[in-house]
Amino acid sequence: MKKSIISVAVFVVNIMLLVSACGNESDLSPTTTSGTSSTTTTTANATTSLEIFKKIYGATEVYIEGNYAIIKTNGLPDHKSPYYKDTQWATAKYEAYNGTNTKFALNPNRISSQSLVFKIPINPTKANSTSATPLGPIGISLNGVPFFNQYAAMNAPLTNEVNGFDQYNGHPQQQGQYHYHVEPTYLTTQKGKDALLGFLLDGFPVYGPLEKGKTVNNSDLDGYHGHSHATVEYPNGIYHYHITDADPYINGNGFYGTAGTISK
Ligand SMILES: [Zn+2]
Ligand SMILES: [Zn+2]
Repeated sequence: MKKSIISVAVFVVNIMLLVSACGNESDLSPTTTSGTSSTTTTTANATTSLEIFKKIYGATEVYIEGNYAIIKTNGLPDHKSPYYKDTQWATAKYEAYNGTNTKFALNPNRISSQSLVFKIPINPTKANSTSATPLGPIGISLNGVPFFNQYAAMNAPLTNEVNGFDQYNGHPQQQGQYHYHVEPTYLTTQKGKDALLGFLLDGFPVYGPLEKGKTVNNSDLDGYHGHSHATVEYPNGIYHYHITDADPYINGNGFYGTAGTISK
């Protein structure tokens, strides 16, 4: 055991020499650390590359501007929905409710095209003081549909709203903006329940309800609904949120980091 600690220490020193010699962290390829992945210290901070942001395949545009990723979306789900009824997309995308909620009731809203611009930090950092998540979009999922928080309008619990969730767990608000308060099941079916599913406005990534084959519960997470360790996209570790199947689902007591902005 001691020997392995020493070898890791030597390894770390070598890496530090390598970094200072190159003066460029990008030379530190993740594959360099693969042999010691079990002993690599994970950190809460990491930079998100444009390549990772481009996993948001539903975005109409994704680019980096200074310390932010600019992500534009029309917010239209790429999957079917009963909320496409009577819209211009109905022929291709309307699908009657076929989920399992016997209390399902179609709300009067219909999906409409949005023009949302998310400005998300590429170097997310823990905020000194927590800010609550706003009503409306708090993040963006891979198909360009926004994440909303655990409250309905007026900070009411989702108790009644859930009966309006379609078979993919989303629904539109009064202005036709489709969104997810809970697990986006279309994405977890397509990408896997342990996959990266999107980002909250503070730049920290959102993962699904499964990790290393185990279901993540609220008790595994802190008050903001996240924790730090290495992930597929961030081999050196990052703070990240997990979506769970119980309230508050995506986020708890506000943003862990300093939030970016969203404009319409
Ligand atoms: Zn809602
Ligand atoms: Zn995790």
